Amino acid sequence: MPIYLDYNATAPLRPQAYARMQELLVIPANPSSVHSLGRTAKKHLENSRKIIAEALSAWPNEIIFTASGTEANNTALSGFPERRLLISAAEHSSVLRHPMVTTDNLIAVDENGIINLSDLEARLAENPQPALVSIMLANNETGVIQPISEIAAICKKYGALLHTDAVQALGKIPVDFSLLGADMLTISAHKCGGAVGAAALVVKNNLVIKPLLSGGGQELGRRAGTENIAAIAAFAEAVAAIDLGDMQNLRLWLDEMEKQIQAKGGIVFGANAQRIPNTSCIAMPDIGNEVQLIDFDLKGYAVSAGSACSSGRIEKSHVLLAMGVPAELASCAIRVSIGWNSTQSEIQNFTEAWLKLADRLKRG
Ligand code: PLP
Repeated sequence: MPIYLDYNATAPLRPQAYARMQELLVIPANPSSVHSLGRTAKKHLENSRKIIAEALSAWPNEIIFTASGTEANNTALSGFPERRLLISAAEHSSVLRHPMVTTDNLIAVDENGIINLSDLEARLAENPQPALVSIMLANNETGVIQPISEIAAICKKYGALLHTDAVQALGKIPVDFSLLGADMLTISAHKCGGAVGAAALVVKNNLVIKPLLSGGGQELGRRAGTENIAAIAAFAEAVAAIDLGDMQNLRLWLDEMEKQIQAKGGIVFGANAQRIPNTSCIAMPDIGNEVQLIDFDLKGYAVSAGSACSSGRIEKSHVLLAMGVPAELASCAIRVSIGWNSTQSEIQNFTEAWLKLADRLKRG
């Protein structure tokens, strides 16, 4: 088994989540059924909703379960069609490629990847049409954290709604829906030790959102489709297992790695901003990331470039380009992301492999 350093793509399933899935997958469980099995399924669903709501300081009826973070983001952005959209240039593709987004909707980020607050305020002030602003809490490629509470205060001043994509923040930093001040927030199970197939959009309970999917009246009529009970219950197990205390070590290990690679000419992106503790976006100048990924793969390290399209080809990172990183350097960047099952020696071994590769390729 390779050493897994790609938690931001998907995190390994936590044992508690796996056990719960095994238990529930074998029960025919549709929470909309009236018979006793259906009622049991409903109990699991509502219990999971409660656990997740409590972890986020939200109300259970504010949680809409979806099948993916992508679906939750799309639901948020499509949910208020009368509003104009404003998003940051560094958003995940599930926000950036929404059909209502054009280059006119994009708010700039600075060289550290932080959204330009005066640009946001100017855009909100210049047009009286109510806006929906979507800014991620933590970036999937660089780990950079946005000042969501400050952004929320600006949005409030101009009557704008704020959605934040917290998919990469959950499990790594505190995610408190009421403290953040956002009106909507996205989370996804498989990024924090749950399974692919469950995610949620948290929506303030005074808001009426237009559903993306219509059909049965599930999720209080806000998202049709039978809920994936096993994945949702595993999601709740994963959320309950989160221990943010463990995260401090991850940052120390990555800081040490960054120090060593910087001493050998490596570049760390977003280093001057606040970042989630598990993520490091690093470049080996002049060595394309495809070459690096293949070499690390052969040596048994699973890392990734910032964003890979579904064909497996590496695209230039729109996040790094938005931060003003030259295209050539952006194509030398890889992402190291670790998590609940990582160890210090894995990072130390990877650091050695990085330093060796840099030496070998420099010597030609
Ligand atoms: N938002 C961010 C920041 C992500 O990193 C991802 C996944 O990479 C998503 C949204 C999409 O989540 P999902 O894979 O559950 O669709």
